[in-house]
Amino acid sequence: MPYKNLRRSAPALDVVCKYCGNKTKHNAKGVAQYVGGWVANRDAGGANHILFPNRYNSWAHVACLEDDHKPNTEQLELFG
Ligand SMILES: [Zn+2]
Repeated sequence: MPYKNLRRSAPALDVVCKYCGNKTKHNAKGVAQYVGGWVANRDAGGANHILFPNRYNSWAHVACLEDDHKPNTEQLELFG
């Protein structure tokens, strides 16, 4: 897993956005890396600390991720 310890300060690497397919740099502003790991539930809700994170060679623009999770307006009409 060559990307495990890749930091923003590492030399810029060419990567491809999983959603739009456009090339970008791994450390460019607005680029996210897919990470898996353990997250503890908090009493107050939410969880933002990942224990033992595993970073994957999977990248996306944050804007593309947000587009992907926009509610489907047809579903809103059905269930809203
Ligand atoms: Zn994209």
